[in-house]
Amino acid sequence: MDAEHASARPVPVTLGATVTRAPGATALPATGAPAHPSAGSAPRTGTGAPREGGLLDRFGRVATDLRVSVIDKCNLRCTYCMPAEGMPWLPQSQLMSTDEIRRIVRVAVQSLGAEELRITGGEPLVRKDLEVIIAGIREDNPDLPIALTTNAVGLDRRAQALKDAGLTRLNVSLDTLHPETFAELTRRPHLDKVLAGLQAARAAGLGPIKINAVLLRGVNDTEVVPLVDWAVTNGFEMRFIEDMPLDGDRSWSATNVIPARDIRAAIEEGFTLTADPRGRGAAPAERWEVRRPGETALAGHVGIISSVTEPFCAACTRTRVTADGKVRSCLFSHEETDLLSTMRAGTDDEGIAQVWRDAMWAKPRAHGSDRVGLARPDFVQPERTMSAIGG
Ligand code: SF4
Repeated sequence: MDAEHASARPVPVTLGATVTRAPGATALPATGAPAHPSAGSAPRTGTGAPREGGLLDRFGRVATDLRVSVIDKCNLRCTYCMPAEGMPWLPQSQLMSTDEIRRIVRVAVQSLGAEELRITGGEPLVRKDLEVIIAGIREDNPDLPIALTTNAVGLDRRAQALKDAGLTRLNVSLDTLHPETFAELTRRPHLDKVLAGLQAARAAGLGPIKINAVLLRGVNDTEVVPLVDWAVTNGFEMRFIEDMPLDGDRSWSATNVIPARDIRAAIEEGFTLTADPRGRGAAPAERWEVRRPGETALAGHVGIISSVTEPFCAACTRTRVTADGKVRSCLFSHEETDLLSTMRAGTDDEGIAQVWRDAMWAKPRAHGSDRVGLARPDFVQPERTMSAIGG
């Protein structure tokens, strides 16, 4: 466990309470009691969840990083995410509306202390009202960092409007620079559209722009150095992600995961890596400075997200809402809490906030259970695929 996972820092929330992130995983209690003294001072529900303040869980973590999926559909079919055919889409009536998304974010920020928002999918650009959603969120929350995770197909026509609506940051999923590999991996021949979208995003002044690549053995694992080279040349930050068991085909295998240590070694075949002195904070990516061989000037940064081989659950600050308005306290949760039905039943903002607090109080320790490990024999993959959860 690294020093960052074991750190404690105060996290202010808007209802007057201040809670402190607890020490790291080795110090986590098995269940039940709050992990630090300040967590014990707020009024409690019968389950032990706080009745005020932020999204505290049983292990003393506080969720301030909000991820909201706005649609489950996608215009690609990446092999590590969706099956080729037969995905059951949510009916329109079950999707959160523009105003419902806006309200959910307002409750999270203004009642529960969320500090940043990432909009995810499916593919968020499939929603025609994405600019309207972002403009509404921006109007309610002038200082909120708003990031978008997208595959960038169609972004060339919308980047400027998204920027004007209030979008600040962008993560683009791009696993390969080869058109044939792209078509094989995503089952669609759209690499040129992604590159056009990235160009438009940069021209619109969106930034930072991060490129997310899932490395797959025998598919794109020879592209580590070319991807980093391309990213730093274009002013993007490359992020490599270990393949996780959230695929639609249910064919994930731990033995096929390219571990973070091998990714670092692969990058070092073309660049010098130095740990980023700014540290990681609660971010999922371990960040590195990149320099070209023999040069002292900084070429750029890369991040490595090692959910499988070097998990970072002890420092997790994430809370997710699916496109049908369900809270998932963990990416790998088997339980969800229906915020949208609560809202549609006429519950006020404080009532919605309390349902959310209760859901997050029950957040599992790691990887959807109170036991750590995606590669352990008794790990059970969640029913939803990555596309139906949001990343
Ligand atoms: S697996 Fe769950 S607890 Fe671990 S980092 Fe991801 S969301 Fe957080």
